[in-house]
Amino acid sequence: MTSKSFYDLDCFMHGLKRRNPAEPNFHQAVHEVVESVIPLIRETQAYRDASILERLTEPDRIITFRVTWMDDAGNTRVNRAWRVQFNNSIGPYKGGLRFHKDVDLDTLKFLGFEQTFKNSLTGLPMGGAKGGSNFNPKGKSDGEVMRFCHAMMTELQRHIGEDTDVPAGDIGVGGRELGYLFGQYKRLNNRFAGVLTGKGLSFGGSAGRKEATGHGAVYFLKEILEHQGEGLSGKTAIVSGSGNVALYAIEKLNELGCKTLTASDSSGFIFDPDGITDEKLEFLKELKEVRRGRIHEYADKFGCEFHAGKRPWSVKADFALPCATQNEIDAEDARELVSNNVHAVIEGANMPTTADAVLILQQAGITFGPAKAANAGGVAVSGLEQSQNALRIAWTHEEVDNRLQGIMRGIHQKCLRHSEEVHGTVDYIKGANIAGFTKVADAMVAYGAV
Ligand code: GLU
Repeated sequence: MTSKSFYDLDCFMHGLKRRNPAEPNFHQAVHEVVESVIPLIRETQAYRDASILERLTEPDRIITFRVTWMDDAGNTRVNRAWRVQFNNSIGPYKGGLRFHKDVDLDTLKFLGFEQTFKNSLTGLPMGGAKGGSNFNPKGKSDGEVMRFCHAMMTELQRHIGEDTDVPAGDIGVGGRELGYLFGQYKRLNNRFAGVLTGKGLSFGGSAGRKEATGHGAVYFLKEILEHQGEGLSGKTAIVSGSGNVALYAIEKLNELGCKTLTASDSSGFIFDPDGITDEKLEFLKELKEVRRGRIHEYADKFGCEFHAGKRPWSVKADFALPCATQNEIDAEDARELVSNNVHAVIEGANMPTTADAVLILQQAGITFGPAKAANAGGVAVSGLEQSQNALRIAWTHEEVDNRLQGIMRGIHQKCLRHSEEVHGTVDYIKGANIAGFTKVADAMVAYGAV
């Protein structure tokens, strides 16, 4: 039996850091959750007796493997890949694959940990996982990407399955990559099953999956604003990124009458004071999704500012939606957002705000929508894709969109149920963490010591 006093945040984090050295992103993600749930652990003997926090912060398993493939010049290339199967207490492992030169185990552990709570919040039966590789897709031909994906799936296929683990996309993994990955799975197993989500619409993909993360983040913002008696119409937003999340967040912001002033990629950001209208957004989609070009082309075409090497947080707007990557809003950016009187920060990307920045925003009374809640729309529609695959049916776009809106509304309600007010605003971080945690923890208690 574990005593109450053991559950001190610093003491727990000290042990976690000792067991997982040199993994700052994992430490950051765990700290945020543990800080929220520690009062609940202290008052719940069953959680302490079952060592829930220790179990939840130790992945069920981590698979590491070599991926060998040949580039267009005939050179043999080697990358490292991982699948972190974090926790399957409430459903088969579920989470994306990330291809980026900086992917390492630390990144995937933080993402897999976060995914566990995010997936729980959706209310769907999905465990948490994440995977990926340090493969750099930038500048690679379609043939190279295909050979890499086929080689990666040759190993990954033995660890996944529709009732075991269902990967999807993330940074660097979109429709093209998922097509190659699914094709190789099907070839090796001679099975057409829902083992991946985000598939193409002609081979088992769900209507609305591509749009779901971005649309869902804006639906979450809409719920928050309605709760505050406010709305999106006539407002302005700054968005970072120009991938799947950012593009469809901008699309939904436009639809709801909110003007988006910025978008970015790793080379810098564009500032369009007239707003990224639907017509300009079509250009941006073609530029980023089809031609895979750089964002300065948008500024060249529409005659607006391009800020090389910068992030958009200095631009004044009502809402900030970080939709690019982790830790893209630091303390200095947060101070700038505060001095520009931003109303809300909604995390479209995973953990885009550093811990210091979160504190600054919260202390200034700025509404903060954490990733686990705000960007859960993507994995939620992945869950709906799994359901459709299992039933061998395909729902319409409208049907999926209605369900997505219902899920985002449900997440918002769960957050409210478990949160408190801090600095005059709802603490959505605490609400999301406790709601996500409780469902997983209760299942783990029920299983006994497994
Ligand atoms: N990578 C996305 C996320 O961060 C989606 C995962 C999925 O659809 O399984 O939630």
